[in-house]
Amino acid sequence: PRKFTPFLLHGVPGSGKTEVYLRVIAETLAAGRTALVLVPEISLTPQLAARFRARFGDRVAILHSGMSDQTRLGEWSRLHRGDATIAVGARSAVFAPLAKLGVIVVDEEHDGSFKQEEGVKYHARDVAVMRALRAGAVCVLGSATPSLESFAHSEQGNYRRLELTKRPTARPMPHVDIIDLRMYIPDGEAMLSAPLRTAIGETLAAGDQSILFLNRRGFATFVLCKACGHAFRCPHCSVSLTYHRHSDRLSCHYCGFTQRVPENCPKCKTAGSIERKGLGTEKVAEAVAAAFPTARVARLDRDVASGAKVEVVLSRVGRREVDILVGTQMVTKGHDFPGVTLVGVLCADTGLDLPDFRASERTFQLLAQVAGRAGRGDRVGRVLIQTYRPETPAVVAAAAHDYLQFFVAESAARAEHAYPPHGRLIAVRIDGPDEHEVAGAAKLLAGLAEDMVRQRPDVSGVEVLGPVPAPLERLRGRTRWQIWLRGPDRHALRRVARMVQGTEVASSVRVGLDVDPMSAL
Ligand SMILES: [Zn+2]
Ligand SMILES: [Zn+2]
Repeated sequence: PRKFTPFLLHGVPGSGKTEVYLRVIAETLAAGRTALVLVPEISLTPQLAARFRARFGDRVAILHSGMSDQTRLGEWSRLHRGDATIAVGARSAVFAPLAKLGVIVVDEEHDGSFKQEEGVKYHARDVAVMRALRAGAVCVLGSATPSLESFAHSEQGNYRRLELTKRPTARPMPHVDIIDLRMYIPDGEAMLSAPLRTAIGETLAAGDQSILFLNRRGFATFVLCKACGHAFRCPHCSVSLTYHRHSDRLSCHYCGFTQRVPENCPKCKTAGSIERKGLGTEKVAEAVAAAFPTARVARLDRDVASGAKVEVVLSRVGRREVDILVGTQMVTKGHDFPGVTLVGVLCADTGLDLPDFRASERTFQLLAQVAGRAGRGDRVGRVLIQTYRPETPAVVAAAAHDYLQFFVAESAARAEHAYPPHGRLIAVRIDGPDEHEVAGAAKLLAGLAEDMVRQRPDVSGVEVLGPVPAPLERLRGRTRWQIWLRGPDRHALRRVARMVQGTEVASSVRVGLDVDPMSAL
């Protein structure tokens, strides 16, 4: 039998990856077999479903976490009976009941949402590859910005790489300028530098639309004491509380804890010293509206809405009823707006500092996605990326639309510490209600792991990092610590991990393993 080789379809945004999927699926159906298509949750839009239904009619079953259980069960049984022969869905659809599977497509295979991090941990992309292998099916992984792991597989010949380097209309990729925020001091409220302000003005004057992109995680609105700097954190989760202007309250995104903003500082007791500060999309949208009073400004983020309301905002943009859209990650995926000729990234740096070895890759992917937003209409788009670190490879390569340049730089950086794809990383997560017991267990286990690595030659390549409190040290009433095991040999890593997990600790303490975690939080 022929060796099983997944395909990696590497295509620039707008190069027609979806059309390739549709053709492969059509051929598969013609041969009497079935098809499974996985997409990130955020891309599973009504437009995407409509596109599949337009081509394949009611042979398509859509599996979506936003569906009622009954609808989902209905779709599941249509597949089971063979009434539907194409399953399109997010992560968990990888287990859809399809007989005679002929092809599995994983679109945007780099997307972090394919990894199930809670409960039973699995990576839907890896499950998809295994399932295709067992079923004798074709496996197609598609992305404009492949994960380093998948691209490395294609470099090593484990995957066969197909490149879609041109947009079918021969329209060039948008022109990207990097704006150095150290030179062009941005307006504090809106993060508008002079060049971006000028570009927005020109776009408005031309009757075109702009998207301003904000990486929410780095820019949540915060409330602080201007006398002593005290900031408000959740007493249960040790995360910063998010400020809600309409209710003038602070709340925790994890556990829902909520409190009023006090008049006086709880720490230094200074009266009237609490300032509401920072840059959410709300703040930026207000400042942008003030700077461009004739423009119609809308914003889009998780606070505005979910599901249907998102579609309302996006369809207004599609009908050109919005001149400037201010938004978070949501604006980067799954929608084509011909009228958008300018995309401004307000601050590219925010993602780079997340405590995660994939921070740089995520930032590159995000910037590349955002850059792909502009210029899908009949004119070439323009992208301005504002950053305090214009020399960062993720920024430079995204601006140059050069995936390979990023891959080479990032792969070299990862090699230094044997991070994937050069090695593996296992997070040992230790948590429990009692902070002393958790810390004690973490120190005990890390010590044992270090002893094992010192004493046994078969695991000598393993590095033990930590123990450290997790970035979210308290979450839902539990204290969380981490030990990281890192090294080029996954068998050696597993041996150490198994020893750690098999060691007896206080009964209230949980010890879990996460291989190549998507998040360090
Ligand atoms: Zn204070
Ligand atoms: Zn909380």
